[in-house]
Amino acid sequence: MCIFCMIAEGQIPSHKIYEDDVCVAFLDLSQANLGHTLVVPKNHYSNILELDEGVAGHLFSVTSKLTKGISKALNLTDFNILNNCGEVAGQSVHHFHIHIIPRKLNDNIKIEFSSNKLTDEEFVNLKNTIISAL
Ligand code: 5GP
Ligand code: ZN
Repeated sequence: MCIFCMIAEGQIPSHKIYEDDVCVAFLDLSQANLGHTLVVPKNHYSNILELDEGVAGHLFSVTSKLTKGISKALNLTDFNILNNCGEVAGQSVHHFHIHIIPRKLNDNIKIEFSSNKLTDEEFVNLKNTIISAL
């Protein structure tokens, strides 16, 4: 059983801030900023590619509610809401989870995207490739 399955089942202690039939949310062991929270389904899905879409909807709804609660409790307005899918993307625990990461001015967190310029034709081809797989 993976570590987040064990936390969800209460076999490993965690600082839970929310629980319902489908998911649990607890403070990340490593607080990128105070209030850093993980929203985790109780059932095991390795990543977003395996995640049930109905569960995904519920998790995002809970994430929205909890972000508002953390905002109010800690008097914060800035957050990154993110999920890492796969090791190249930084996933270290292979049980799907959403990070709620409070942000503060001049904190040391860096989330950067490089920019790839495409021609219109490349955009159309890319769009059509994705659409045909949906
Ligand atoms: P990932 O890198 O997979 O997106 O994020 C995994 C997160 O889980 C990390 O931020 C890490 O600090 C957190 N984490 C790993 N093990 C534990 C644990 O046993 N308890 C808690 N509360 N968080 C954990
Ligand atoms: Zn698991």
